[in-house]
Amino acid sequence: MKASIFSPQPSFDPWWWEAAPPAATIVRDVPSAADVAIIGAGYTGLSAALTLARAGRSVVVLDAGDPGEGASSRNGGMLGSGHKVSFAAMSARYGHATAVAIIKEGLASLVYTVDLIRREDINCHFSQTGRFRAAFNVKHYDSLGREADFLRKELGVEVDMVPRAEQHREVATDVYHGGCVYHQHGTLHPALFHKGLLDRVVAAGATVIGRTPVTTIERINGSFSVITDRTPLTVGNVIAATNGYTGTVTPQLRRRVVPVPSFIIATEPLSAETINELIPNGRMIVETRRLHCYYRISPDGRRMLFGGRASLLPMDTRKSAKRLYDIMVKLFPQLANVRISHSWTGFVAFSRDHLAHIGVNDGIHFAMGYCGSGVAMAPYLGYKTAQKILGSPEGKTAFDETKFAAIPLYRGHPWFLRFLDPYYRITDLFE
Ligand SMILES: Cc1cc2nc3c(=O)[nH]c(=O)nc-3n(C[C@H](O)[C@H](O)[C@H](O)COP(=O)(O)OP(=O)(O)OC[C@H]3O[C@@H](n4cnc5c(N)ncnc54)[C@H](O)[C@@H]3O)c2cc1C
Repeated sequence: MKASIFSPQPSFDPWWWEAAPPAATIVRDVPSAADVAIIGAGYTGLSAALTLARAGRSVVVLDAGDPGEGASSRNGGMLGSGHKVSFAAMSARYGHATAVAIIKEGLASLVYTVDLIRREDINCHFSQTGRFRAAFNVKHYDSLGREADFLRKELGVEVDMVPRAEQHREVATDVYHGGCVYHQHGTLHPALFHKGLLDRVVAAGATVIGRTPVTTIERINGSFSVITDRTPLTVGNVIAATNGYTGTVTPQLRRRVVPVPSFIIATEPLSAETINELIPNGRMIVETRRLHCYYRISPDGRRMLFGGRASLLPMDTRKSAKRLYDIMVKLFPQLANVRISHSWTGFVAFSRDHLAHIGVNDGIHFAMGYCGSGVAMAPYLGYKTAQKILGSPEGKTAFDETKFAAIPLYRGHPWFLRFLDPYYRITDLFE
């Protein structure tokens, strides 16, 4: 009988929580009035709160769970420049000028978030490791090459192609068809980043309250009454910073983002030789296939953290661990006898055009739809949302030019994912 893939006592919480568990203690009375209420205490909400509190506004951040319990303390900690969509596809949809402006927003989000970490002196193991985007087939390699040419020539991005014959200098597998390295991308410990932001927000004077779901937002004479199971909170502005956890409180926004689970496993500690062989330059690795995998070495240099879309539907994390393990071992047969110590999941939010969105809907400010790439973009758009509320021209973004479209025949129950999951699996095989 095959031995279990799990450690004797596996954990089904994020490995990150061992260093920085979500802040469970922040439960207290809700004040009766403030300038701004923010729903969601992830990177988006906290970044908006920090900007507004430093500008002298009274801010209350409310989270249904413990602050950080959403995607912001569960993710892969890969810091990139934002978009899933290629320049060619964006340009076909929005025209050359808007597409260039959107790509620039992605680059600006990376600069903003790196600067935020440095300026606020947040100790979250940030490192500019670079990212290797691994081509799943020759067609993907060619389109990565065209995109790299554009980024290098038009925008001065540091990006290099790595042909298949040389890919072992980045990753020890023969499955890929080469790829490209984005040198400016980086890595961090997501839960420590969240904790650092939370500490700065509280120190700036904002009130952050956990385990307090917002159930209704009522409009009264130009202001809002934010309803929870405690005192109603009257505010001038509301920000929905709920991304993959957007629910019935903002039904219009809910029709615009599809919650999709992402899954990660952590291996037990590996030898230094194995780690150096697997990912010699210590970069973040992200694949081009639709149901892609993303993986990296943990900040302590000892484990493989291997993530991916084990399923497009929520799944028990024992089962998702097995799926991810099988994929990992196909890529790296040398890991066949390694055991899994942690397996967890969280929700990302996909928009119809696979771009992030920011704006005002039904009087409520929002920033969401990061499509699985929010570590840099969420803090950036949280900041931009705050600037919009402050009435500053700094709040303008290229996303103001794009439409945040509702998803047809969708009101919050993503029935179509059941069909998309097998379809994507098949097209990944034959594309
Ligand atoms: C497993 C995984 C891996 C990922 N890996 C990466 C990566 O490597 N790189 C990258 O760039 N991105 C990654 N992402 C995406 C990234 O984590 C998110 O884009 C980002 O954290 C979104 O931040 P946020 O603040 O907008 O939302 P979240 O951090 O998800 O916070 C939303 C919060 O809203 C709260 N909420 C919802 N409704 C209510 C309500 N009614 N009342 C009160 N509170 C409410 C929720 O409780 C939640 O805490 C990953 C995501 C996951 C799940």
